[in-house]
Amino acid sequence: MLKKILKNLAPTSTQLVAVSKTKPAEAIQELYDQGQRVFGENKVQELTWKYEALPKDIEWHAIGHLQTNKVKYIAPFVALIHSVESLKLMKEIDKQAKKNNRVIEILLQFHIAEEDTKFGLDLSEAQEILNSEFYKNTQNIKVVGVMGMATFTHDKNQVRKEFRTLKKFFDELKKKFFENENSFKEISMGMSGDYEIAAAEGSTMVRVGSLLFGAR
Ligand SMILES: *Cc1c(COP(=O)(O)O)cnc(C)c1O
Repeated sequence: MLKKILKNLAPTSTQLVAVSKTKPAEAIQELYDQGQRVFGENKVQELTWKYEALPKDIEWHAIGHLQTNKVKYIAPFVALIHSVESLKLMKEIDKQAKKNNRVIEILLQFHIAEEDTKFGLDLSEAQEILNSEFYKNTQNIKVVGVMGMATFTHDKNQVRKEFRTLKKFFDELKKKFFENENSFKEISMGMSGDYEIAAAEGSTMVRVGSLLFGAR
């Protein structure tokens, strides 16, 4: 399945984040042995023990809702945090990154789905953050793009529409805040059920779990 997904993503050069949540270390090692290096987890505790247990050249991404008081556990090693949806969380990431002498890359998570159970910012909230004094002076975080989750539905048009919305948000922020920053380039969208639509709509990073590892 890894090969098939990579083949589907190759024409658009979309990166695969293998979402290994709830799966044992052996399952991750198996994909690692096939060449996969980027893995995503949504629970801090799981992320930290897997980081300890598995090869050190794995790039670990935090993809789920992240509690402020847990940032310190992943700050020493996390490669990218996909789920930043408040100034408060951003401040904590900056603080912990500073303590670890690092710059941590983050994505702003947007609410694009119809369900209001899903987390995320709207465009004006994101702009407020990027206009804040705090953000202008921060040195230990780098905003490298946006992330979003589409509605869980079989309606492909709905999903496509939501991915287009996220792409539009990305384009607007790029123009307004990051025009000369090449590092602002990531659009994290697409999961097992909709990664091909996402890739076609401009995703640079899909987060695929069950299709790779089997149902959870
Ligand atoms: C679990 C999860 C995924 C992967 O979901 P699948 O449907 O198993 O591919 C992607 N993104 C986030 C934020 C997740 O929590």
